[in-house]
Amino acid sequence: MEVSDYDLVIVGGGPAGLTAGLYAARAKLRTLLVEKLAPGGQAATTFMIENYPGFLEGIPGSELTQAMEGQAKRFGLKIVSGDVDHLSPNGQSWEVGWEERKLLAKSVIVATGVESVKLGIPGEEELKGRGVSYCATCDGPFFRDQDVAVVGGGDSAVDEALYLTRFARRVYIIHRRNALRAVKVLQERAFQNDKIEIIWDTVVVKVLGQTGVEGLDLKNLKTQAMQSLNVNGVFFYVGLRPLTEFLKGHVKLDNLGYVLTDENMAASAAGIFAAGDVRRKLLRQVATAVGDGATAAFAAEHYLESLAR
Ligand code: NAP
Repeated sequence: MEVSDYDLVIVGGGPAGLTAGLYAARAKLRTLLVEKLAPGGQAATTFMIENYPGFLEGIPGSELTQAMEGQAKRFGLKIVSGDVDHLSPNGQSWEVGWEERKLLAKSVIVATGVESVKLGIPGEEELKGRGVSYCATCDGPFFRDQDVAVVGGGDSAVDEALYLTRFARRVYIIHRRNALRAVKVLQERAFQNDKIEIIWDTVVVKVLGQTGVEGLDLKNLKTQAMQSLNVNGVFFYVGLRPLTEFLKGHVKLDNLGYVLTDENMAASAAGIFAAGDVRRKLLRQVATAVGDGATAAFAAEHYLESLAR
């Protein structure tokens, strides 16, 4: 085991983790941030972020998160690659690990965020990456002048459907109810966009195709009528699930798996903090994630001081 004796290990490099890293680095804590993919998190895959204050015309998610990463690194934050799947107490410290690697940290900030929920319908897993996608920003350009569907009625579904209209000929939004959940400004844009057609009260029961998506089998929940829809791609935005498997048994989670914290981002176990989308809270946005990250780092600093006393 690497006995590196970190003051703080931050798990997850989205806006919450990067902000925690910035504050911890400026506080001169011996800090390591562990990220399983490239830093930036879900925000990095958002084409344009319009509701993060300070950017009059909005800012591409990748640009914003790259700036956050660069800023944190400028103050000395170290970032390593790793998919943390182990946490256990070790005296007054915590052992954090993945694959062959184990670290010791006096405090841990969990900023692992969320992942897309899978519907688990036939064809979804089989055609993933071959027309089934969970990221319009990543895969949208492949569907130039083709017909695609977006499943879901929340902010993600409507935002990404609007993005897809840049490429696709027609974008169907398939929603299980007769009213969208998305914020009104997005709803209005979708209703006004000629390329978008909303299929209400309907769920997808099967993704059709052998080597690529050829269509969807749909079921109307009011009439029970079935219909097939020809599309070349389908983007699922049916909600998000917190990445907290490795925390089970160590900190209190709510019934959906989100970390319960106090107002200082402290989780139920001493030395563990949580920040960003992974935390149970009212509003999951970049604007709230960065506030969580700053608070969590500051609270961790105070916790470390209390250990030293
Ligand atoms: P969400 O708000 O949880 O919406 C999920 C959507 O999927 C809902 O419309 C839901 O339908 C539908 N759904 C859930 N399970 C389903 C199932 N089994 N079959 C069919 N449909 C199903 O998730 P989200 O849109 O990813 O947003 C997550 C968070 O990120 C939110 O806090 C959101 O505000 C935030 N976000 C914000 C922005 C932005 O500000 N521009 C962009 C993206 C995300 P019902 O409506 O019937 O429940």
